[in-house]
Amino acid sequence: MEIIKINKKDWNGGLAKSRKAYRLYGPIRVADKYFSEFGALAEDEVPDMSATDTRLSPKSIAFPPSEVMLEYTLDENSEDCNIMKVPEKEYPHRAIIGIRPYDAAAYLLVKKNFDTSEVRDPYWCDAYDACTFIGLAVQEPSLLDFSTSTNSGPFDESGLDVLLVDAGDSYLAKVITDKGKAYLKAAGWGKEAGKDAAGKIEALKKKAEAKIQSSVSFDNIRQKSVMELFEADFWEDTAFACMNCGTCTYVCPTCWCFDIQDETHGKKGVRLKVWDSCMYPLFTLHTTGHNPRDAKVQRVRQRFMHKLKYFMDKYEDGIMCVGCGRCIRSCPVNIDIRNVCQLMNG
Ligand code: SF4
Ligand code: SF4
Repeated sequence: MEIIKINKKDWNGGLAKSRKAYRLYGPIRVADKYFSEFGALAEDEVPDMSATDTRLSPKSIAFPPSEVMLEYTLDENSEDCNIMKVPEKEYPHRAIIGIRPYDAAAYLLVKKNFDTSEVRDPYWCDAYDACTFIGLAVQEPSLLDFSTSTNSGPFDESGLDVLLVDAGDSYLAKVITDKGKAYLKAAGWGKEAGKDAAGKIEALKKKAEAKIQSSVSFDNIRQKSVMELFEADFWEDTAFACMNCGTCTYVCPTCWCFDIQDETHGKKGVRLKVWDSCMYPLFTLHTTGHNPRDAKVQRVRQRFMHKLKYFMDKYEDGIMCVGCGRCIRSCPVNIDIRNVCQLMNG
């Protein structure tokens, strides 16, 4: 295992150097706000490495809220009239600096949906393949972080190419993949850390994990039948306060629902892939007018059943949640996935 030491005084210079080969993304402090958002860094802009969390997750890097899939013309004088065409798209190398380990792990869960043996979503996959994830370990977990009980954790390396660990006046950069190694080389960072670096990272990992105060258990959910959970009597109470605002799904790094819409202006049009939410009544409205989930309780149940039961049964790989805590923080009526998981598991 290779560990590189990056002096913080060389940080900005290395980022600048890497821009020759990579487009940089990272947490950006929102002016006059207490939070940061993930996005493309402007020239000379450096990522906000002090951001404990971003309000929205970084899923939009490969799954933008709105994306043109196809374009068309209705102009009958054009030889391309009524022909759907894929627009020219470029996927330059992108380095995602400072992504938190659980957010990178969330990409692996989302990949199960967009990159299967039968279907490959080219928009998501091409964008994802262009990314190199330079993650930053979570050393001060928030009170809402329960990532250690979701197969992830503050130092989870599963979705990363490099894991950065803050060691005071330097970062210890643990090289996980060749993609990560290539990025460090492009940034000019290559100084081997001392022999004690691996032990130091391990000690900081244990310390960070010990700070996590929150957990969920889902051992019993697997044993229960879908119908037992579906017909449980706690859904009405759980859903009572929900306003179906959809915030929980928009902030979540693992929620992947989208809608496809055509927008035509004059004789030109585009087919868009746009974020949608299972919490919205229109999400399941059929063209016949029938809606299989027209009641709020059905939609709330669907969100939790998908994350905590259907996903687990289908993929046999834990739950569709990495424990980032964003949905808990953002829900205006304090609906808490940890409590729902406990009800389902109990
Ligand atoms: S954020 Fe809360 S109120 Fe809004 S849809 Fe989600 S659970 Fe319901
Ligand atoms: S369900 Fe909530 S806690 Fe889990 S990954 Fe999504 S936003 Fe984070």
